[in-house]
Order: sequence, then structure tokens, then C-alpha cells
Amino acid sequence: KESGRGRCAEFDPAMDARAREHARLAADLSVAVERGEIHLRYQPIVALPSGDLAGLEALIRWNHPVRGPVSPAEFIPVAEKTGLIVGLGAWVLRESCRQAAAWIDRYGDRAPGKMSVNVSARQLIEPDFPATVEAALRESGLPAERLTVEITETAVFGGGPALEAVQAMRALGVRVALDDFGTGHSSLGLLRTCPVDVLKVDKSFVDGVPHSVEQEAIVTSVNEIGTAMRLQVIAEGVETATQAERLHVLGYRYAQGFHFDRPLTAQECEERVAGSPVPAAV
Ligand code: C2E
Ligand code: MG
Ligand code: MG
Ligand code: MG
Repeated sequence: KESGRGRCAEFDPAMDARAREHARLAADLSVAVERGEIHLRYQPIVALPSGDLAGLEALIRWNHPVRGPVSPAEFIPVAEKTGLIVGLGAWVLRESCRQAAAWIDRYGDRAPGKMSVNVSARQLIEPDFPATVEAALRESGLPAERLTVEITETAVFGGGPALEAVQAMRALGVRVALDDFGTGHSSLGLLRTCPVDVLKVDKSFVDGVPHSVEQEAIVTSVNEIGTAMRLQVIAEGVETATQAERLHVLGYRYAQGFHFDRPLTAQECEERVAGSPVPAAV
């Protein structure tokens, strides 16, 4: 209307379709937990070169009644935009803590040592976030040092409430990991200002091992900086034996990726821990 009477703005049908698609996805997502459509998979983080289980990363899965499995890459951004991530993320925290504590009860020392949970920027800046984490720990009985929250560099880049949340996590004894490390705006600068425990070197760098001299130099340097700072450094997205061997030679002690394990169901994790198939419950 601002541009005068009798004119009309150009209508972009593709944009409209996308907006509707998002709205539909958001509406479905808002009832997905209560309908039992959401569950977690757990991808092992392993020690190099042994391949021993060092921890698990909880990864959300949505089995849509009509569409089938929807990728987190598709629905997490929608959940972030609509704020649904806050409730969804709280569910992920409760469920992953419950599962980790149940495995400790059942397997003792053989249980996966650490549980990592992805947390969005949107969750981190919620004033309730530290209380949500505390409640998940208290209700499950999981010791705080067994939990790691994975955040991205961009979430904490601006400081403010997100950085305060990181400090609150560490005050609780919860570990903090920088996920997709190296892809942010100021990865090195962040190491000075944001106190963390773990660096997860992004797959895009690991992909260059062993073929790219430049990528290998980055991967090596990040490990040296992280190790000098007494951080745990994990190479993400390791897909081949050659990469795993080379990363070990470059000094890496931890890795994660399809070469070792895909994200596993809870039952598959138990089989891996038990070393033999667990008979299905009858
Ligand atoms: P991320 O935290 O960086 O997780 C790693 C992603 O890479 C996972 O995808 C995992 O399945 C995949 N991946 C692991 N190893 C390999 C490999 O060797 N090759 C390849 N090509 N991919 C590998 P996924 O499960 O689809 O999750 C995608 C992203 O969605 C995650 O990236 C994370 O940012 C987000 N996400 C997943 N679960 C949650 C959650 O519970 N809460 C939040 N806020 N975000 C989540
Ligand atoms: Mg992650
Ligand atoms: Mg990652
Ligand atoms: Mg990544």
C-alpha cells in the first residue's frame, strides 16, 4: 500500500509454498513428542587407535506418521525459528540423561562414560536453561561430569546470555564442547573468551585428511592448540580407515564418524557394550 494505490507487490509462489511447508512442519512438530514420534540415536565417540567407546552423542530423530523420517537438518531450523526447540531440547536433555544413568546402573564401569547433547543457541539464551539441565541431572541421577553440552561457535560468539549459560554449565560441573569447530567467524578468538572442555573439529576439515596438505595443517594445529589448553579434541565425520590411521599419526586421540559407527539405537548401544547381542525382551 505504501507504494501507492492500485499497485500490487510481486507475489512469489515458491516463497509462499515454503512458508506453508514450514508452518505445517511446525504444527506437526509441536505434537510430535506427545505422539511418540521423537526418539534418540546415539553415535559413539571412540578412542584412537583402539576404537574403544569413549562416549556417546545423542542425536534426535523424528519419524513423521506420513512423511517417514525427517532429517534434523530440516526440522531443527524450523524448531529454532518457532521456539519449539526449547521444549524439544528439554525433552532431549531429560531422555539422554535418563538413558545414560540407566546404562550406568546396568553396566557399571562398562557403561559409556559420557553423554553429549546438542544444544541450540535459542535454548542456551533461555533464562531457564541452567535450571532445565539441573532438573534433568537431578531426576535421572546422572553425575554432572558425565554430561557434555555441544554448542556451536556462533551461539556464543556475541557473549551475553549464551556465554553466561556456558559459565553456568561449568559451575554445575557439566562439560561444554564447541561443535563444528573451525566453521565459525572467530574460532581462535573464542578460545580466549569462552571456557570450554572439548573441541569437535568439523567434518569439512577432516574430509581433507589425508589428501589436502592445507586441511591437514589446520587439523594438526587445532589438535595442538586444544591439547596445549588441556581440552579434549575430537575429529568429526571420520569415514575411512585411512583417515582414522592418519588422524592417529597426526596426534588425535578421539574420533567419531561412520567409519566407526553410525548413530545407533539404544538396543544397538547395549549390544556394543555387552559385546554380544542382548536377547530381545519377550
Ligand atoms: P552435529 O551435532 O554436528 O552432528 C553430526 C551429524 O553428522 C549427525 O547428523 C551425524 O549423524 C552426522 N555424521 C556423523 N558421522 C558422520 C560421517 O562420518 N559422515 C557423515 N556424512 N555424517 C556423519 P544428524 O543426526 O542428521 O544431525 C545433524 C545436526 O542436527 C547435528 O549436527 C546437530 O547440529 C543437529 N541436531 C541433532 N540432534 C539434535 C538435538 O537433539 N538438538 C539440537 N538442538 N540439535 C540437534
Ligand atoms: Mg553435535
Ligand atoms: Mg558436529
Ligand atoms: Mg559438524
